[in-house]
Amino acid sequence: MSSVVNVNGQVTDGADAKISVFDHGFLFGEGVYETIRTYRQKPFIFDRHMARLRASADRIELPVPLSDVAIRQRVDETMAALRGPGERYIRVLLTRGVGELNYNPADCPEPSLVIVVKPLEEVPDDVLRQGVKIVVVPMMRNHPASVNPLIKSNNLLNNALAMQQAMKHGGVEGLMRNHRGELAECSQSNFFIVRDGEALTPPLSAGLLAGLTRQLLLELGPTIGVPVRECVLTDADLSTASEAFFTSTTKELLPVVRIDNLIVGSGQPGPITGRLLELFRQTALTQSA
Ligand code: PMP
Repeated sequence: MSSVVNVNGQVTDGADAKISVFDHGFLFGEGVYETIRTYRQKPFIFDRHMARLRASADRIELPVPLSDVAIRQRVDETMAALRGPGERYIRVLLTRGVGELNYNPADCPEPSLVIVVKPLEEVPDDVLRQGVKIVVVPMMRNHPASVNPLIKSNNLLNNALAMQQAMKHGGVEGLMRNHRGELAECSQSNFFIVRDGEALTPPLSAGLLAGLTRQLLLELGPTIGVPVRECVLTDADLSTASEAFFTSTTKELLPVVRIDNLIVGSGQPGPITGRLLELFRQTALTQSA
C-alpha cells in the first residue's frame, strides 16, 4: 500500500523510510504516538491530539522537541507528498531516540519524530449496517501503576496480545478487563453499551486510554438529548445492554452486535448508536469545512 513517511524532517516513500536499530523506540518500545485522521483531507482535532501526545510524553519524561505548529508543518509537508483522493491516516510517533543499550535517557539526546501518512481505510457501509462481533479476552488491561493505559505508548504488547486472542475467536476487537475485573476498553478502541437510552462507558479510573472519540461523544451526546456518561461496567452489564459499540479515530463508532456468544439487544445495530454516529460525523465534517 502507498505511504509517505517523514523521519526527523526527511520525507520519503514509505518503503524507503529508515530508523536506527539503536533507537530506543525499537529497542525498548520507549515512545508515544497519536493516530489522527482527516475529514475533507484536513487533520481532525489536531490540537487535541497534540495535547494528548504531550501528556503521554510527559508521563515517560520524554521531551517533545517541536511546537505544535512545527509538528503541524511536518504533517502538512508529509501529507502533500501523498497524492490522490480520499481521506488520510496519519500516525505521529515520538521515540526516545538513538542511544546506548541502556535505560539512561541522558544517553539519548535527540528524540526521533516520525510521521506516517497513508490512505485511510474507511469502515465499509455493509459492516456498519451489519455490526461486528467482539470477544472478551483473558489479557488484563495494563494496571495503571504498570504501563498506565493513559499513556498512548508505542509499547503495545498488551494490546497486540488482546487483538491476537480476539482474532482467534472471530472477533474484530478484544474487550479487556482491569485488575478489579471491571470492563476497561478494547485493544484499539473504547467500549460503550446503551441501556435505558443512555450510552455508558467505563470511567478513566478503570484504567484506559482517554480516547478522543469517546471524549467527543461525552460532550456531544447531550446536545441531541442522548445522555453519554461514565459508569463502572462488568461482564454482568453486557447482557443488560440494548446496544453496544466501540469508538476510535479510524473507526469512528462501530456497532457491536455480538460479544462472544451473547447477541446484543436485537442483534442489529441500534438507533442510539446510529444517532451518535451521525452526530459525530456531522460535527467532524462541519469542523473541517
Ligand atoms: N483505546 C486504545 C487502547 C486505543 O489504541 C485507541 C485508539 N487510539 C482508543 C482507545 C481510541 O482512542 P481515539 O478515539 O483517541 O482514537
